[in-house]
Amino acid sequence: MAKDAKAASTASAYTYVDHKFDVVVVGAGGAGLRATLGMAEQGLRTACITKVFPTRSHTVAAQGGIAASLSNMGPDSWQWHMYDTVKGSDWLGDVDAMEYLVREAPAAVYELEHYGVPFSRTEEGKIYQRPFGGHMMNFGEGPPVQRTCAAADRTGHAILHTLYGQSLKNNAQFFIEYFALDLIMEPDGTCTGVVAWNLDDGTIHRFSAKMVVLATGGYGRAYFSATSAHTCTGDGGGMAARAGLPLQDMEFVQFHPTGIYGAGCLITEGARGEGGYLVNSEGERFMERYAPSAKDLASRDVVSRCMTLEIREGRGVGKNKDHIFLHLDHLDPAVLHERLPGISESAKIFAGVDLTKEPIPVLPTVHYNMGGVPTNYWGEVLNPTATSPDKVSPGLMAVGEAGCASVHGANRLGSNSLIDLVVFGRAAAIRAGQVIDRKAAISAPNEASVEKIMGRFDRLRHANGSTPTAVLREKMQKAMQDDAAVFRTQESLENGCKRISQIWGELKDIKVYDRSMIWNSDLVETLELENLMANAITTVYGAEARKESRGAHAREDFSARDDATWRKHTLSRLSEDGNVTLSYRPVHTEPLLAEKDGGINLAKIAPKARVY
Ligand SMILES: Cc1cc2nc3c(=O)[nH]c(=O)nc-3n(C[C@H](O)[C@H](O)[C@H](O)COP(=O)(O)OP(=O)(O)OC[C@H]3O[C@@H](n4cnc5c(N)ncnc54)[C@H](O)[C@@H]3O)c2cc1C
Repeated sequence: MAKDAKAASTASAYTYVDHKFDVVVVGAGGAGLRATLGMAEQGLRTACITKVFPTRSHTVAAQGGIAASLSNMGPDSWQWHMYDTVKGSDWLGDVDAMEYLVREAPAAVYELEHYGVPFSRTEEGKIYQRPFGGHMMNFGEGPPVQRTCAAADRTGHAILHTLYGQSLKNNAQFFIEYFALDLIMEPDGTCTGVVAWNLDDGTIHRFSAKMVVLATGGYGRAYFSATSAHTCTGDGGGMAARAGLPLQDMEFVQFHPTGIYGAGCLITEGARGEGGYLVNSEGERFMERYAPSAKDLASRDVVSRCMTLEIREGRGVGKNKDHIFLHLDHLDPAVLHERLPGISESAKIFAGVDLTKEPIPVLPTVHYNMGGVPTNYWGEVLNPTATSPDKVSPGLMAVGEAGCASVHGANRLGSNSLIDLVVFGRAAAIRAGQVIDRKAAISAPNEASVEKIMGRFDRLRHANGSTPTAVLREKMQKAMQDDAAVFRTQESLENGCKRISQIWGELKDIKVYDRSMIWNSDLVETLELENLMANAITTVYGAEARKESRGAHAREDFSARDDATWRKHTLSRLSEDGNVTLSYRPVHTEPLLAEKDGGINLAKIAPKARVY
């Protein structure tokens, strides 16, 4: 790779390519593409910037499916879906946003069907739906409901390809393999664009826009073992934090029960939906003991904790008794072939097992981030104050895993993320259509803001300390894995805060070996590490402060949920030198529709013990 020996030493030495759009969407996963498509369909001049080719975004890996109460396989209703989502969130989700999600879900899925998503079909030609964890009939009374619409076990792949094609058809303009560095901000807090680096030719681009949409996905890679792609580095959270905005509910990190032992690759919950079950070293289907009603289809946080307990109590399988077996070998090979072809392949490649004959070795693995950039249910970013907890931050939206609407609260139900991407991607487009003044001029980029952004970029490009990025990244990942895990204690979390703050300090000593501007992966990974650190540090500090157990945040020293004190969202603000300031905002408990108008009965969704 060519080295640029005469590298620019000050930010102002860079030259810029300038663009003006009505809307700039950062990210081309399911959320970014659905937002892009919705914006472009309304004739808004829309750019979509993405660091990877759109169809390589992590959404492509989503296997199991997308939840909507279509009732194709039996009775279902949005009210049941809402109850399950509220309960799944352990009563931390915002009720208005959850209602919007489940009520819009069926229309959003039919829309995908009409755009061309090749869903699996029933005998009569309807969209096929499978059971998934935590989705039940009759307000949680059971039995499991078939609500998760699937395209075999490649649902995300099918959605992403369809949305990309439709976005192109509607003349959205794509900037592919452009790395967004930071948000351009006015002194009054209005976002007016984004600066991005074209990885391919090294040029720097200033995008000015009336609305910027962050759709950059999750930050699974803050942990050592994660099901998410290496590109899931929380860049949107990093950008928002550097722009002075808070991150919300970061302490809630979902572990998926069935990552392949050793590799971390996912075996979809759809495997249990199709009849798979977990066993310990005694051959016992232990989930029957912990969750007599939902069994292996209890919510993910619950199953992950039960597996961890079994292992701790000496009933793990394998030489080191440190994992669990997932059985699918009792199922008809024809069903496995038709419904779960992708995971048959994953089991073969990553665990070396033929799942028609042997169990798959599995372990809880980091899978999803419930927290993110706080928004209302239109995707508008919030910058709350003590007196105005729902204050909108002008010019900025966030959708998908990068955002926090909050529909997943303390724990997300399986197949509720894909539906979140399309419902809120669409909602953001509807809202942008309402608030953008098409006739208004697009302002020039704020020079001081660009100077600050490029100053940081230039500092990292020429960073000449003694710690390679990969070394510091692994240190962060190990600390997160050890100290902010499935079970947490005051001791582990205090230790985690100390370790992550120390690692933050070590960022000053980073060493970037490659100074070039062309496909400089060393610099990309360093920018990503800074973003990961913003997410990691707010995760541990938020977790240390929250003295209760709720959803994915399970504390051994505070094992009960404490609604009186803790039914509230955590807001974490990060200073440049790595200090985290925490504050809180109330959970929205009011539904959109009154009961007399067909809305949910509030008594049904009142907080109670979460039993499966
Ligand atoms: C293995 C796996 C299986 C899953 N299965 C399911 C499932 O069956 N059902 C379900 O509901 N959920 C599932 N999930 C969760 C769900 O897939 C994700 O939450 C969701 O796909 C996230 O979509 P997204 O659009 O927010 O982000 P992503 O799909 O992660 O896309 C992020 C986009 O942002 C871009 N980007 C990021 N940073 C930058 C930057 N700095 N500059 C420019 N571009 C940037 C990337 O290029 C990419 O296009 C699964 C997750 C995993 C990991």
